[in-house]
Amino acid sequence: MRGSTCLWAVLAVVLLGCAQARSAATSNSVSTMSETSVAKPDSSHKTADGFVNPLGVSDHGSLFGFLKARFRSGKWASYQPERYRVPTTQPEFADQDDEPVVTWIGHSTVLLQHRGLNVITDPVFSEYASPFSFAGPKRITAPAVTIEELPRIDVVVISHNHYDHLDTASVQALGNTPLYFVPLGVKAWMVKKGIAAERVEELDWWESRKVMINGVEVDVTATPTQHFSGRGLFDRDKTLWASWAVAWGGFTSWFGGDTGYNDQQFREIGERLPNIDLGIIPVGAYAPQWFMGRIHVNPEEALQIHQDIGARQSLGIHWGTFILTAEEIDEPPRRLAQALKNAGLPLDSFSVFAVGETRRYSQVGDEHRADGHWRDKAGEY
Ligand SMILES: [Zn+2]
Repeated sequence: MRGSTCLWAVLAVVLLGCAQARSAATSNSVSTMSETSVAKPDSSHKTADGFVNPLGVSDHGSLFGFLKARFRSGKWASYQPERYRVPTTQPEFADQDDEPVVTWIGHSTVLLQHRGLNVITDPVFSEYASPFSFAGPKRITAPAVTIEELPRIDVVVISHNHYDHLDTASVQALGNTPLYFVPLGVKAWMVKKGIAAERVEELDWWESRKVMINGVEVDVTATPTQHFSGRGLFDRDKTLWASWAVAWGGFTSWFGGDTGYNDQQFREIGERLPNIDLGIIPVGAYAPQWFMGRIHVNPEEALQIHQDIGARQSLGIHWGTFILTAEEIDEPPRRLAQALKNAGLPLDSFSVFAVGETRRYSQVGDEHRADGHWRDKAGEY
């Protein structure tokens, strides 16, 4: 095996799940916290040894299969900015407060601003989504801002511990200012990285917390996804993966994290959380489908999630930032627009931003409506 192939083999095990290995210091005023549970506890995703997808979906592809797809298929995305450049722009963080404001920082990092509170999803600002600071999937699009340029962050939600979602340097830079919400098993990692235990809330699926932050009540619920976890060769599925509903000031967001599709979990989320204003849903990293389909969604499945959860509008994420898979970089937004068209849904109901783009909630779908920004050269969605 050549050196680069070796490295990819190791990274494949860590990133793509090919292995068979099974405070006190606060700047916010969290004045009260109460535990609530929105329904009966369900432990079908727990085992003595870690976690599983309760619908029986195996998340284990073979390492051989991955390497074959990666190196023998002849088709793996490469970034060719001369053919297609991921659109980028400068954020315009909220300066007024009459409606929620949404900024896509890149990949799965989204900043939500409302009622003076700032909530961020899966903050990742590092150059590599990898256990190594010098190798692995490298950013093709810089984060819209540096972490220092962010406004004060009050709440962080973490979907799972994969490197493109949980980044050591970013968590340490945010430090003990925010309150972190993490799935079961991730709190120990946070504390090991220097975050005060009091600043981390670890939740199981369908557990909720109500917190008061600077006089605003925030309701956070962990919800299911179909995925897996692990940061090394020996911690496969030892910690849980989750999506998150975060509601405050009359605005309910749902962050999908990283997930494959099934026709049960998202319908259940839609039934139990009937007022989702904004879905933040992955649309990229799905090819080859035979390999990625169990753990990631394609744009058609992302649209099905949008419908299953009953979101008023949605934002597509998890594309245009790291090359993790084989689809062309610009395919997710085009396929999403086509899927909306095929389903007879308005193009502005599920939108895609430029990296760094900020939109007020009422304008989340404007780009699609305006000019078919995501058409390919042939004019097709
Ligand atoms: Zn993942």
